[in-house]
Amino acid sequence: MRCPFCRHPESRVVDSRDANDGVRRRRECVSCGRRFSTVERAELHLPLVLKKNGRREPYDREKVVRGFVLACNKRPVTEAQIEAAADRIEAALLEAGEREVPSATIGHLAVEALRDLDAVALLRFASVYNDLQSASAFLDLARSLTEEEPR
Ligand SMILES: [Zn+2]
Repeated sequence: MRCPFCRHPESRVVDSRDANDGVRRRRECVSCGRRFSTVERAELHLPLVLKKNGRREPYDREKVVRGFVLACNKRPVTEAQIEAAADRIEAALLEAGEREVPSATIGHLAVEALRDLDAVALLRFASVYNDLQSASAFLDLARSLTEEEPR
């Protein structure tokens, strides 16, 4: 981190603490001794979503959460669980580190996240989710769920 006063390339960290927007560090230039602050944040970029019609749009967490809320209507799923599920999707996207992902990938991640939450919500979500619109795929999913959790 170059000193803003004398442009010396080396400084030592004299204090470091978490800030809302990253890690705030107080630094002291090893050459001129003046102090300055820096904020370092991880480079976290969610990918663009490549839609079926070929358009790209920014990943929209609100859209995912809205889909979950609708699917979980009157189901024993809390808002915190829905937020956590959305967090897991974002973590998976960040980990993959792609610049863009097909909307189907988001759908798959959402289905996986719901699988852990609620079987009924999962089926509702899957029924409106493109890749499972065919009746047979929907029934296969329903069957796999009832095999996992006999009622
Ligand atoms: Zn300096």
